[in-house]
Amino acid sequence: MAAKRIRCEVKAEASVSVEGYDGIILVADSLDKLTGPLDVLRVPLQAQAAIDQSVVKDGAVVKVALPASRLVLAPTGHLNRDYDDVRRLFDAAAAGIKRALKVGMKKPLLVLANVDSFPEARLVTVLGALHALYVPIEIREDVPEKASKAARLGFVGDNKTVQLAMALDAGRTVASDIGGSDPERMAPPRVEEYVRDVFQGTNVSLEVVSDDEKLCKEYPLFSAVNRCAKGVPRHRGRVMFLTYQGSGPVEQTLLLVGKGVTYDTGGADIKAGGVMAGMHRDKCGAAAVAGFMQILAKLQPKNLKVIGSMAMVRNSVGSECYVADEIITSRAGVRVRVGNTDAEGRMAMADVLCHMKEIAPKEVNPHLMTIATLTGHVCLAYGEEYSAIMDNGPARLAGVAQKLQAAGDLVADPFEISTIRRGDFDFHSGKSEYEDVLQCNNAPSSRTPRGHQTPSAFLIMSSGLDKHGKDSSQPLKYSHLDIAGSSGPFPGVPTASHTTAGNKIARTSCKSYVARPSALQCPPGRYVDTSWPTSRRPGSRPGGLAPVAAVLSGQCYLAPGGTLPVHQLM
Ligand SMILES: [Zn+2]
Repeated sequence: MAAKRIRCEVKAEASVSVEGYDGIILVADSLDKLTGPLDVLRVPLQAQAAIDQSVVKDGAVVKVALPASRLVLAPTGHLNRDYDDVRRLFDAAAAGIKRALKVGMKKPLLVLANVDSFPEARLVTVLGALHALYVPIEIREDVPEKASKAARLGFVGDNKTVQLAMALDAGRTVASDIGGSDPERMAPPRVEEYVRDVFQGTNVSLEVVSDDEKLCKEYPLFSAVNRCAKGVPRHRGRVMFLTYQGSGPVEQTLLLVGKGVTYDTGGADIKAGGVMAGMHRDKCGAAAVAGFMQILAKLQPKNLKVIGSMAMVRNSVGSECYVADEIITSRAGVRVRVGNTDAEGRMAMADVLCHMKEIAPKEVNPHLMTIATLTGHVCLAYGEEYSAIMDNGPARLAGVAQKLQAAGDLVADPFEISTIRRGDFDFHSGKSEYEDVLQCNNAPSSRTPRGHQTPSAFLIMSSGLDKHGKDSSQPLKYSHLDIAGSSGPFPGVPTASHTTAGNKIARTSCKSYVARPSALQCPPGRYVDTSWPTSRRPGSRPGGLAPVAAVLSGQCYLAPGGTLPVHQLM
């Protein structure tokens, strides 16, 4: 059974003079900002800086004349240059927690200096600290004495911020648990067990499709991937639907599809040459969906309905595995020619997306989304810390990508906007009279022009969403999120950090992704570029949570045409 996160107590405090803490962590960009009640922290730091000028840049531990008695300075560096963003606060808070734990603190009190550069500065600072306190589920279950890193975390600030941060972090924990766990601990049936446990007693309901006959009939592309894995009972696939409906009349409906490939061997197009390791992280899209649902369960937003689906399947290799050249008719009746079995993520999601497309017209103001660690190309295009978002025509008219990008910028979860173009559709059109659609070419995405954009065209074509463009009588908003770059590191711990992406931990982790492009997903095996760094730096936490915090950050709620002032919910 899923070991609940034993979180330390988290409290809002009125001042740095409060009792009950064994140290203070100060997040600051300059000692000059320590005025008023924080003057008591500035004096000892200035004394230290007089003998060590590296203090302001590298941080320090000093004694203070307060009940907490010692102080860790966690410097942010510059905050106001053109390219500085709120991630500096997240990074500094996470680094401060690490330093505090190293010096032996168990009850740190977090303080943010007077920073006025970012609207969500306080929230992001607390999120950074909580992120560094995450303990992987395997450790919580197997090594109980290490199940918690600290007994208490205080934050000198308002309780509303602390409560919101805790709700977001609860979602990040779910996403990190699922996304970061090994392929057996989070094989599809065990993900079902975990999700059942998490949402038991909440107003998020769960429906699971595990019957093979039903899967084959209703999700044929998903079942092609599942065909090999289902021979092993503990690896059998699951399509899961989580539903949340807030109080009051529904004003918008989100229909989310998350890629949950619990392990990606590549299938018959096997990942050879040592690039398979790390592929348990290929479930971070589905993990992000579950994390998002957990946040909804905590915050209970009104007038909103969300159906979040998780396409959980293992891409195994064996005598039953699907192979390139097979033609499989999708749920939407589209004849799909397999080009590469390592492009299994789009196979796993397309029929689930089609299902969402079918129910969307009955929902109020629907918006469909796919969330997936889909391509290595997105990392080459945008780097290691950024999610890509691509809108179809109706979503573009509603400015969804821009709104989500703005929301993400508030909470250190940055997005880059890509555009789906005509060539992406040409790329996936059938190449002979046998098939309507070609699933993939047989080159790695990272060696394919527009390698992260074209899969969105495949998803649109194979699910029948191409009949719901802006020119149709029933347009449907659809956005595809490729989170391969931002989903976090291996080896390491999932960041859930493209939620609040960009903390040092996340960066570290992403570097290991780069070191190992296969970890980023499909067609790899062949796209190892030896010019990339080969170092693997442990210590981070895989994420795949990008949408979570961005979606719920500040004023902006996932965008479809409206905003949700989260702070008013608290
Ligand atoms: Zn793959």
